[in-house]
Amino acid sequence: MHAEVIVIGAGIVGAACAHALAQIGRRVLVLDARIGGATGAGMGHLVVMDDNPAELALSSHSTAQWRALAPRMIEDCAYSACGTLWIAANEEEMAEAERKQQRLRTHGIESRLLDGAALARAEPALRKGLAGALEVPGDGILYAPNAARWLLAQAGDSVRVEHAKVDEIEGDGTLRLVDGSRRNAPQIVLANGIEATTLCPELPIRPKKGHLLITDRYPGTVHHQLVELGYVTSAHHSDGDSVAFNVQPRPTGQLLIGSSRQFDTTDPAVEAPMLARMLQRTLEYLPGLADLTAVRSWTGMRAATPDGLPLLGKHPWREKLWLAVGHEGLGVTTAPGSAHLLAALMNGANPEFDAAPYAPRGLLEPA
Ligand SMILES: Cc1cc2nc3c(=O)[nH]c(=O)nc-3n(C[C@H](O)[C@H](O)[C@H](O)COP(=O)(O)OP(=O)(O)OC[C@H]3O[C@@H](n4cnc5c(N)ncnc54)[C@H](O)[C@@H]3O)c2cc1C
Repeated sequence: MHAEVIVIGAGIVGAACAHALAQIGRRVLVLDARIGGATGAGMGHLVVMDDNPAELALSSHSTAQWRALAPRMIEDCAYSACGTLWIAANEEEMAEAERKQQRLRTHGIESRLLDGAALARAEPALRKGLAGALEVPGDGILYAPNAARWLLAQAGDSVRVEHAKVDEIEGDGTLRLVDGSRRNAPQIVLANGIEATTLCPELPIRPKKGHLLITDRYPGTVHHQLVELGYVTSAHHSDGDSVAFNVQPRPTGQLLIGSSRQFDTTDPAVEAPMLARMLQRTLEYLPGLADLTAVRSWTGMRAATPDGLPLLGKHPWREKLWLAVGHEGLGVTTAPGSAHLLAALMNGANPEFDAAPYAPRGLLEPA
């Protein structure tokens, strides 16, 4: 197959890009080094985030696309329309829940305020005395590595996947692989997550480490993805180490527990003090967790940009190169929206929403 586009990386973002490009008629070659990445390490919460209008636009378009894909997904993608409950611990956070509802409303996102009693009925395992919650029923979860494989398979003959590690992007846009061979196409998409800086050192991407832990099977303990509203202030905006209550009910009955964030480390080791802090936070909301058995914990690296938004668009000075990188802690959610936006730009068409906030120009120094 003569490729019109080469995508570097077959994580959820690369897979979504290949899928979207195939949908507009492109023949795509995906190169993946199979060294793993955030897609295999993350939580797979499909969530509308509203820290700023650009994040809200991208995540709301993307969750709508996931909902449209869901009926066709195979079972091992483990999609579940469980919704999110943003938990308000006190009246101050309840006021934040109301403000969040207003912001979501501007994008037509359905949500519902629950008082303390309604929250206790919805999630009896939560500790007593919480002020309430904002329920976002359109959010969901999936198992991202399988969803990535499914997206690639959906594209049929238009997409070919090759096991290959790109060693260098040469000046004319030619890709040199580690075995010394070369690949070329009129357009190249860089979608290799945290490894993006090894091929393009100029990209302003830093690793942000996260811990996760999964329990044994306890079906029916938790029904929604539960996230503390304090997440918005404690974890998302901080530049130091932080933890936040974030629990996901897997379709298997297991509970997937997050979340922690640490900058300036590339050490993948599980750190007992950080894990303990994260679990302590979880216990403050789910006291019964102390009686459950954990089966595994691990870490992953999010690819963080200075403003928290992914870089989507033409590289300002590298020939043929397009960027789909820097998705931080939201790349599973935002993969389909990112891919559609990028495919439109690569096709010279108008994206469904404003591409300017994600434009790489401005963040990168001229060569
Ligand atoms: C702990 C944690 C929790 C998270 N929770 C969520 C969540 O709940 N919801 C959400 O939306 N997001 C979440 N995320 C973020 C999400 O997982 C990432 O944003 C997303 O997976 C990034 O996907 P990607 O395809 O860009 O990169 P990756 O998944 O890292 O994939 C990169 C791919 O590129 C390949 N590659 C690398 N270098 C090369 C090379 N030189 N040549 C060829 N191939 C190469 C790798 O083999 C890999 O397959 C979480 C992340 C972490 C770490």
